[in-house]
Amino acid sequence: MPQLKDIVRVLEQYAPLAYQESYDNAGLQTGNLTDDVTGVLICLDCTEAVLEEAIVKGCNLVVAHHPVIFKGIKSLTGKNYVERTIVKAIQNNIAIYASHTNLDSVHNGVNAKIAEKLELQKVKVLSKKPHTLMQLAFFVPVDDTESVLKAVHEAGAGQIGEYSDCSFQVQGTGRFTPSENADPTIGERGKPEQVQENRIEVVFPAFKQHRIMDALLKVHPYEEVAHYLTILENPNQEVGIGMIGELKDELTEEKFLGYLKAKMKLQGLRYTSVGSKTIKKVAVCGGSGSFLIKDAIRAGADAFVTGDVKYHEFFDAEGQLMIADIGHYESEVYTKEIFYDTISKNFPNFAVYLSEINTNPIRYTY
Ligand SMILES: [Zn+2]
Repeated sequence: MPQLKDIVRVLEQYAPLAYQESYDNAGLQTGNLTDDVTGVLICLDCTEAVLEEAIVKGCNLVVAHHPVIFKGIKSLTGKNYVERTIVKAIQNNIAIYASHTNLDSVHNGVNAKIAEKLELQKVKVLSKKPHTLMQLAFFVPVDDTESVLKAVHEAGAGQIGEYSDCSFQVQGTGRFTPSENADPTIGERGKPEQVQENRIEVVFPAFKQHRIMDALLKVHPYEEVAHYLTILENPNQEVGIGMIGELKDELTEEKFLGYLKAKMKLQGLRYTSVGSKTIKKVAVCGGSGSFLIKDAIRAGADAFVTGDVKYHEFFDAEGQLMIADIGHYESEVYTKEIFYDTISKNFPNFAVYLSEINTNPIRYTY
């Protein structure tokens, strides 16, 4: 039986918490990391009804997309659904974990799932998150290069797209004079020394900085390790919000609307017309994505599929693209499949369930 920390580790390897937005509160919301997990129930929103379902199914972990604890809580008296949910979870020893804007920001997250449902091709991140990449340059004696490189790669450095163990090195001469208090690996106290060294450069996601530096300092033979850490302006192609891709076939507005309804299983949607313009390039953002309308236009999208678009925001389409508001819940509901696949792949023969409750508070009538 896995412990809560084992499942949390897997979820955070998939969608690192470092990628959540500053206003967010993703991560473990209730529960003890060392508790054994009896089963996992997956949902979009953790509500009291979902907790009831977890109890019936024998699950003591609920994995949700939306964090039930989102704002600061000063008392827990059950005066609203958030507090009642937290109280119920704690009373029943149920852990709640949320993977929210961090899952929106990874290239295989919420938006990749929408792109998959729409069968988009050549899919890319729409708005890349800045300053998520770092570079480390360090100097190491030639003979120690392989062991030190291995350690920093194992800690997560040098993974670029489909390429692993990426590094660059150039050889030169390192010079130093150890002081009387130094404990040099090479050379003697008070005597100038010259060593053939490699300068190594690796790139990595910024949140792995401490892990990589720990690995470097642990295996590097020197007492003082010469190195530079730099935050890169280069965007990480795999980290950011929204995605854009292409439909297999160019569709008329009418055909695209039908396609969207069928693929996302929609009862209806709100949209802006593009008239006789056809649709091939489609941008998507699960949840409330109107802040990306301009990015979608700039990227040349013919349609932008999202939720929670306000009346005045629809005007921002300017006739250049179709804004299709399919609903917040409808755009994100398949996110549950990501949790399901990730957990069941890593913990086979373990009880993982998709919640059968439709937590969408919005109903439609025509
Ligand atoms: Zn959402």
